[in-house]
Amino acid sequence: MGIIVSGKDLAKSLKEQMALEVPVLEAKYGRLPHLAVILVGEDPGSVSYVKGKEKACLEIGIKNTTIRKTADITEEELLNIINELNNDDTVDGILVQLPLPKHINTDKVISAVRFDKDVDGFHPMNVASLYLKQPGVVPCTPKGVIKLLQSINYPIQGKNAVVIGRSNIVGMPVSKLLLDNNATVTVTHSRTVNLGEVTKEADILIAALGKPRFVTADMVKEGAVVIDVGVNRDPLTGKLCGDVDFDNVVDKVSYITKVPGGVGPMTICCLMENTIECFKKHMGE
Ligand code: NAP
Repeated sequence: MGIIVSGKDLAKSLKEQMALEVPVLEAKYGRLPHLAVILVGEDPGSVSYVKGKEKACLEIGIKNTTIRKTADITEEELLNIINELNNDDTVDGILVQLPLPKHINTDKVISAVRFDKDVDGFHPMNVASLYLKQPGVVPCTPKGVIKLLQSINYPIQGKNAVVIGRSNIVGMPVSKLLLDNNATVTVTHSRTVNLGEVTKEADILIAALGKPRFVTADMVKEGAVVIDVGVNRDPLTGKLCGDVDFDNVVDKVSYITKVPGGVGPMTICCLMENTIECFKKHMGE
């Protein structure tokens, strides 16, 4: 049976370290790192993610301001709020919770956030930095996936990594980070032919497609490391589940993450880390 890699435990220990660092930073610079979150509307998933972020800020001692707006906010009003936060010297990180209502242009909003306050790492400047291997903000979920692999001392170099999904927020950046760690990376997607044959070659399998229990045991190589990024509602039970059929896959792998308690807590943890990194840069470190 595979070893369960607990993102919850890893995030807890990393957050404890950050909680020790924050008072030192406050003493040095005279204020706390400050994360501003903008929540538009009442999408239950978004409300719950924002709560998780507020809780993590509280645990670590990061100052948090959540700006809540109704779903009928205009694009111009939202851009004005972002502009104010961009110009506020006491704000280090700005996060606009996605998805946004349909009448708002998400790309425009992402680009409006000052790139050095873009704690999500979604701004085109930060995306470019990632691909050019230049300093910038690395997106939280992909960063969390790599930290999970590093936590088990798994030697990524030279391994076959297969990523299911090619989104801008997970699939593509996680593929780039794996490549930077010298894995041989295959990116798969909805038009991939014989997906199961491709995934069976994976020493490291990253599932990020958003389909409940899609990855079955016959798609996984014996002894593989499986990281499940998916967050789905089980259509039968209504409970949270991942993209991997955990109960059947667990016996075949060497390491595996669970949903919940795997990648999700690492995403929030890396958001906290990005906020502290942006703060330090603003302070000239
Ligand atoms: P997304 O933007 O919908 O992208 C899904 C990707 O999966 C697309 O590239 C799509 O291919 C591919 N795909 C869909 N069906 C497929 C199939 N049958 N076979 C192979 N590939 C398929 O989703 P996302 O934002 O990347 O998120 C993916 C999952 O991760 C979701 O469950 C989301 O909730 C979760 N997530 C979790 C966290 C966390 O912190 N744990 C953070 C972010 C996202 P095409 O490009 O061809 O359409």
